[in-house]
Amino acid sequence: MKTYQYFVANAWHDPDEENYFKSENPATGKAWARLPDCNAEDVNRAVAAAKSAFYEGPWGKLHPAERGRVLRRIGDTISRHADRLGEVELRDNGRVPNAADSLKPGAWQVDSFHYYAGMCDKFEGRLIPAEVPDMHNYLTYEPFGVVAQILPWNSPLGTLIWKLAPCLAAGNTVVIKPSEQASCSVLELMDILLEAELPPGVLNVVTGFGAATGEPLIDHPDVRLVSFTGGTAGGRAAAAVAARQVKPVIMELGGKSPQVVLPDADLDLAVNGIAAGIFPAGGQSCISGSRLLVHREVIDDFTDRLVEVVKKARVGDPEDPKTQIGPMANRPQYERVLKCIADAESAGHRMLLDGRQSGREEGYFIGPTIFADVPNESHLAQNEVFGPVVSTEAWETEAEVINKANATVYGLAAGVWSRDVARAMRIADQVEAGTVYINNYFNAATQSPVGGFKQSGYGRENGWEGMRCYLQTRSVWLSTNPHQPDPFAD
Ligand code: NAD
Repeated sequence: MKTYQYFVANAWHDPDEENYFKSENPATGKAWARLPDCNAEDVNRAVAAAKSAFYEGPWGKLHPAERGRVLRRIGDTISRHADRLGEVELRDNGRVPNAADSLKPGAWQVDSFHYYAGMCDKFEGRLIPAEVPDMHNYLTYEPFGVVAQILPWNSPLGTLIWKLAPCLAAGNTVVIKPSEQASCSVLELMDILLEAELPPGVLNVVTGFGAATGEPLIDHPDVRLVSFTGGTAGGRAAAAVAARQVKPVIMELGGKSPQVVLPDADLDLAVNGIAAGIFPAGGQSCISGSRLLVHREVIDDFTDRLVEVVKKARVGDPEDPKTQIGPMANRPQYERVLKCIADAESAGHRMLLDGRQSGREEGYFIGPTIFADVPNESHLAQNEVFGPVVSTEAWETEAEVINKANATVYGLAAGVWSRDVARAMRIADQVEAGTVYINNYFNAATQSPVGGFKQSGYGRENGWEGMRCYLQTRSVWLSTNPHQPDPFAD
């Protein structure tokens, strides 16, 4: 079994108390790696290294153009090792499609480093026409200092890259806490990045659980900003810890994204697009559009076609290139999804497709599962399953479907399917979601910000806004005619 250490100041360390936890391969259910269970002492060491790299340099003092060169080196180094990273993420997380595909040269995810490398020396200050005589007022955008990045277990490398590139481009240093269910590929990434010759302390990783590792990190007085991706419950707990020191937080949380199918939709397009927007990652994606609201005139035709399309999906060994849906990424999630399915059956929802019969003896496999006539108020329609489970419900009027689409605590993404573009846009404009797709789903690009409305989070990742979240504004007043009359003169 492989034993990992945690990563601080470009060096590997054993955990203070020498405690470890195990990571399983979800395709076999067998433990394959041991990871440091870091405590507050380990966290202190990581934060001290990040603080020193920021204040004593050279990172905090590097010219932005030089930071850009380092970011390009990071992107190139990752691409050279894409296959190694993909292999580890596959073993640890069962991720299909393989993460390597998005890390190869020019691939969209790793390109984040090149995109933000270019932004480093183009993020300009501003001169403000302040209505005060003889004053020159200008704004500069400053890094926060040490940033804590807390990651979920789905797409660990992908979610990290989206945070890391803008955060480093802005001039911050980082302590990463990956999910206890998916830390191996993140540690492997640090090993690879030693080749990119980052100054020590710019990047640090502590592994462990939310309460024992995540909380002391967020609560550390030298951590100035928290960037959290995870479930809404975890986010709420993390934000409460950050609030003790009124610490700013970027929150990328869960969703229960609706897909609105209009009666005039191209049903083949909608079925394929919706299936591709839920099932390939086994539904383990934050924007998974798993709450289907289909017009009554077409719902039977739509669900028949959906069942036909998704029951062909090849669920199985993630190492087999023919596999289209891998396992649930870990045992707790596998058990949670099985319970959601059992609860939906007990609630009397009509099951159209049951994905529990994977035919495999080991591992955490669940195939596409579809329920019909699921009222929007029900537990299944309101709560994120984070698995390959879909609910469908019919609607009749536009006002009704907009109400249903918005009637959850979430607001991460939504889909609208119609041949009538004006009508689709009218609906899209009324849906409370950070991303709305019309006649497509699941697209993302480094240039385009993503984030949530309502309890799906705040702050944005990607694009100009992604970098802006990692910078704070300083306003400087310079007198062009320095004089100050006696304020207490008669
Ligand atoms: P989670 O909330 O259980 O855990 C996320 C991370 O937070 C883990 O590293 C965990 O250890 C840590 N954590 C939990 N409680 C904490 C606390 N009190 N203090 C500090 N750290 C704490 O989420 P998960 O199950 O790992 O991930 C799945 C969730 O992530 C889903 O809800 C999914 O929708 C969401 N997600 C959102 C996005 C997005 O961009 N909006 C992207 C990916 C995943």
